[in-house]
Amino acid sequence: MDDVVIAGGGPAGALAAIILARAGARVRLFERARFPRHKLCGDTLNPGALAVLARHVDTTALVTGSDEIHGMLLTGPGGVAVRALYGAGLAGRAVTRSVFDEWLLRQAVAAGARVEEGAAVKGALVSAGRVTGVTVAGRAGQDLAHEGRLVIAADGRRSTLAFSRGLAHQPARPRRWAIGGYFTGVAGCGTVGEMHVRKGHYIGVAPVPGGLTNVCVVIPHAVGDRAFGAPAELIRSRLNADPALRDRFVDARPEGDPVVLGPMAVDADAAGEPGLLLAGDAAGFIDPMTGDGLRLALAGAELAAAVILEVFAGRGSPEAAHLELARRRRAAFASKWRFNRTLRSLVTYPQGVSAAAVCARAVPSVLVTIIRYAGDLPTEARRAKAGCPSS
Ligand SMILES: Cc1cc2nc3c(=O)[nH]c(=O)nc-3n(C[C@H](O)[C@H](O)[C@H](O)COP(=O)(O)OP(=O)(O)OC[C@H]3O[C@@H](n4cnc5c(N)ncnc54)[C@H](O)[C@@H]3O)c2cc1C
Repeated sequence: MDDVVIAGGGPAGALAAIILARAGARVRLFERARFPRHKLCGDTLNPGALAVLARHVDTTALVTGSDEIHGMLLTGPGGVAVRALYGAGLAGRAVTRSVFDEWLLRQAVAAGARVEEGAAVKGALVSAGRVTGVTVAGRAGQDLAHEGRLVIAADGRRSTLAFSRGLAHQPARPRRWAIGGYFTGVAGCGTVGEMHVRKGHYIGVAPVPGGLTNVCVVIPHAVGDRAFGAPAELIRSRLNADPALRDRFVDARPEGDPVVLGPMAVDADAAGEPGLLLAGDAAGFIDPMTGDGLRLALAGAELAAAVILEVFAGRGSPEAAHLELARRRRAAFASKWRFNRTLRSLVTYPQGVSAAAVCARAVPSVLVTIIRYAGDLPTEARRAKAGCPSS
């Protein structure tokens, strides 16, 4: 039997594996895909995400293989545009998820975790009301049972474990879809991530290494709406119709096929159950608009690993570990969850976007504050304590 079985080798699963394996736990991680694999994402790590990583791994190779992101450009209808830099000494990174996720998963292997790729978790093993392991699809088509003292579900937004155990659900609203792809030859890209909020949709644009530009279009799509049509044409038509973007994409060429994902919203109702802890998107999906998903996924993995290590040290009960995790997640994330929910509601309604645009024109500093909060920047007090120059 392993000490910890982890489903999913994305950023949350990989970081939990690193922390636990380094602390001496026997960790086995099952990942459905074989890395490197593509993952639809805006490809930016905010300064908060980097800070979590730097607590546990040497990020030198990550920094070398990625580009610096100095802040955010936020635009709204009617020509509103606010550019906010993170400030002196602080930056995020732009890196494709195929590169970032593989790098982090290899760190888990180096830390001593047993990582099995191409191994999909199919469900939970349950005994006497407690999760005691997982079943994994075997190569010959049979299900294989793997037991662990504790199990972490880090298998992403549509977590097999969280859904099959009734811990997560897809809300009726909002029903938004993301269509993401890469372009070359985009004009006017700097070293900031861009979020272009329009009535009814938004478009994220980010420069990534190799002269590529990541474009994610997020649009509502209700049950019964007309089919999307071809994703590549949909992205192109939204860019062509956008007065702030169309000129910049005149010479742009798509690289590869775009990926479609949705409906995006998933809400988790708990942080787990006896024997099972949720981490990353499996514990609830954050609207990509804030660009804070990876930071929350990594910080959530850190919390799950800390709770498990306390249980192994005899300072907590395995049956109640999920309750302790829920308490810590609330303490760490509640204000950010509220912020994300407010932002999500605001951009869902055209009236909300118009009102925000009016407000931004009158008081642009409000948007600067929002951008800095979304980037999970340390407060001035924390910056001063860490010896950072004032921004
Ligand atoms: C359009 C879009 C843009 C985004 N842009 C950004 C951004 O720019 N910055 C940011 O910080 N966040 C962004 N996010 C959010 C970010 O992508 C997620 O928060 C992050 O990927 C969560 O990491 P995770 O490890 O929890 O899950 P994932 O990254 O989804 O990893 C889960 C892993 O589990 C594996 N898996 C799934 N099912 C199984 C199974 N049954 N058995 C075994 N393995 C399984 C998957 O193959 C995957 O490797 C964006 C999200 C979207 C949708």
